[in-house]
Amino acid sequence: MKICLVEDDLLLGRALSTSLEDVGHKVLWLRMSADARPWLRDESLDAAILDLGLPDGEGITLLREMRRSGNQLPVLIVTARDTLDERLDGLDAGADDYLIKPFDNAELLARLRAVLRRGGNWSEDEALLSVGTLTLDEQGMTVRNDGETLSLLPTEFALLRELMRYKNRVRTRRQLESEAMPDSDSQSLDVHISNLRRKVGSTVIRTVRGVGYVIDDQKVTQE
Ligand code: CA
Repeated sequence: MKICLVEDDLLLGRALSTSLEDVGHKVLWLRMSADARPWLRDESLDAAILDLGLPDGEGITLLREMRRSGNQLPVLIVTARDTLDERLDGLDAGADDYLIKPFDNAELLARLRAVLRRGGNWSEDEALLSVGTLTLDEQGMTVRNDGETLSLLPTEFALLRELMRYKNRVRTRRQLESEAMPDSDSQSLDVHISNLRRKVGSTVIRTVRGVGYVIDDQKVTQE
């Protein structure tokens, strides 16, 4: 895979490049926003790893520009900024995941694999999302609970898909609304979630008060 690494720290950049190359990735390492901006539009890229504090600007500005122009390249943010607000800002700006420095190399590689899987290049098996007894077929647009097909409305399906893609990680209200309810809708997110809960089981989707919702892998039990 071809990975664009945007990181101004020499030591970290060098270490990351080496470890990514060691597992077979091609790495394009850039240290300034201005240098990274044109490369991030390169269609041969498979993912980007983005530092937030860059000498000539904020990584998050790059990310917002990408998403505004419709660039869906998978992006993993790596940063020392670890407040909840900063993490939510990063995710709301369109990051696929967020890793706090210092991090373990193995964790970076695992998160990157997950981000790459979501970014396309899905194998047949990976188009099937599963959490507990629930399976969601992204291509067939069907959801089964313990083998039984559920009948979901399009918005419910999109919400469930978004939550299952990011299982064990909180999706903010804004993320869910922009992913699953792009058209203005007379019903609120909470109404759709409550309808969805009636269909998939009331304990599957957990509310994170003031933030959003999450599906936890281990909590799904058969109703
Ligand atoms: Ca930096």
